[in-house]
Parts: sequence; structure tokens; C-alpha cells
Amino acid sequence: MATLPILTFPAKSLKQPSAPVHKVTNEIRQLVKNMFETMAAGCGIGLAAPQVGQNIAVFVMDVGKKNPKDEKNIILTPFCLINPRILEKSGDTTYAEGCLSCPDLTVEVDRAQRVVVEALDVDGKLQQYVFEDLEAVCVQHEMDHLAGVLLTDHISRLKRELYKKKLKHHSP
Ligand code: ZN
Repeated sequence: MATLPILTFPAKSLKQPSAPVHKVTNEIRQLVKNMFETMAAGCGIGLAAPQVGQNIAVFVMDVGKKNPKDEKNIILTPFCLINPRILEKSGDTTYAEGCLSCPDLTVEVDRAQRVVVEALDVDGKLQQYVFEDLEAVCVQHEMDHLAGVLLTDHISRLKRELYKKKLKHHSP
């Protein structure tokens, strides 16, 4: 396994829509493993393939759940979704979202509280998932990435320009 470099705003490929995966190959499975490692190294809860320079419809997430018997113990809840499609959305929720591709930016985005999603797993099998709350938010955030939409698209143009300036200021 290896950690991959993460592209950050305003990298062009982050703005491009991703193509569906035709076949889940060993190459894709290797990419998924590396994406899990990259996400963990960056302390993220989700990572989409375009963030590591691959414009294909793949994302990983692991929101983690507290162990009810031991609050300090976090249970891993890894998911890999390939060619995800939202079948149902319901409810409303808002989280202050961050993104490994948008350092030092948090944005409150209105999302559905619950989503039903269909996607291929790493074995190429079609699966259906129901996600709620933070997991549902994460799915919608990652699916934004696959459509070429970033957190910076959820803020005003003025704020985006200020953010761009701030990033330039901090880059070496
Ligand atoms: Zn993101």
C-alpha cells in the first residue's frame, strides 16, 4: 500500500466530472487500498478518486463509529463505492464540512439526512446501501467530487476569491 498525493483547489482535474468504471480490475482494487491509506493518513472520513488525480467514479469513506461498550474505542466502518447512484434522498441536515482538497476551509452545506445508494463494491457486485446523518453527508460530498463539484462551489464567489488569495499567501 502507499499514500498518494492529494490534489488541492484549484487543481483542474478536481473540476472535471469522472467517468464510470467499466470493470473492477485488480488495478482498481489497488487504487482503492491506496485511497484508504491516503484518507487515513490525512485524517479524512472520505476520499474520491479525482482527489488523487484519477477521474473515475470511485470513492472510499470511513466515518467510524463509537463502540457503545467503550466510547474511546472507534469501530472502523469502511466503504468503497464504485459508480454510485443515489436512488432516494430524504430529510435535511447540515454539517460543517471539510475536505482534504480544500485545506483550512469548512462550509455548511445543506444535504439530505438519509440516502439510498446503489453502487458496485470492490468485487464488482452491485450493492444497495442506506446511509444516514454523517455517512449520508459524506456520500453526498464524495458524489459532488465525482461530478466535479467542490466545497468551494458551495460558497459565494467573493468568499471563493478570498479563499484563493489565502491559499496563495500560505503556499511556499
Ligand atoms: Zn472532499
